[in-house]
Amino acid sequence: MTSNGAGVDDRTVAALTEVMSVLDSVGRVRDAPGLYLVVSSSGSEYLVDMAEGRCECPDDSHRPSVTCKHRRRVAFVIGERPILEWANQDALDDQFGLHVEAEPTRAVPDGGVAQATAGKDSVPQSSNGPLTVELDDDPRTKRAKREAIDTSFLQKPGRYEVHSASDSVYEVDVLEETCSCPDDASRCKHLRRVDIEIRAGLVPRPDGRLPDV
Ligand SMILES: [Zn+2]
Ligand SMILES: [Zn+2]
Repeated sequence: MTSNGAGVDDRTVAALTEVMSVLDSVGRVRDAPGLYLVVSSSGSEYLVDMAEGRCECPDDSHRPSVTCKHRRRVAFVIGERPILEWANQDALDDQFGLHVEAEPTRAVPDGGVAQATAGKDSVPQSSNGPLTVELDDDPRTKRAKREAIDTSFLQKPGRYEVHSASDSVYEVDVLEETCSCPDDASRCKHLRRVDIEIRAGLVPRPDGRLPDV
């Protein structure tokens, strides 16, 4: 992953919002202070050594200057790094910090830490495209835009098939405003993503006609 050119640090965003589990008391990291296992949604498992500042993932091990998303995630989960202010609790991965003893810290509005990080990690205001995450997007919209979701139009009015990053397939009905996923929010990220793509002309409109360009 690279920066999107507008100052957002993608690894930090990923560290906060991607589905990953941080484990501190199983397998290789049992009784090993400073060692954590980070398991991604794809099932990959990486050993993070916070004392040495290392992770065994390719991103981290091939580039000494890089702090990978796994190390960042651990730093957030154990409270070593405060969670940025814009990262509303709902934006965080649901599993965030579930499996470790330590508590994450929240950046306080007028604390020095929050101000120090705001400059380099602030969300861009500019709009580079339909999937640019905006500052005032709510958490599900942010996820709808960021995640590797693949949307296609089914030959039925208002129906779209959504392939999520986790390889699940859901059917979204934009006319009924329903989705077959288990998220019980009124408008899940799949529905939001389809909406965004319709408005951007990336998929056909609900009536099946192509957008007028
Ligand atoms: Zn890593
Ligand atoms: Zn959904």
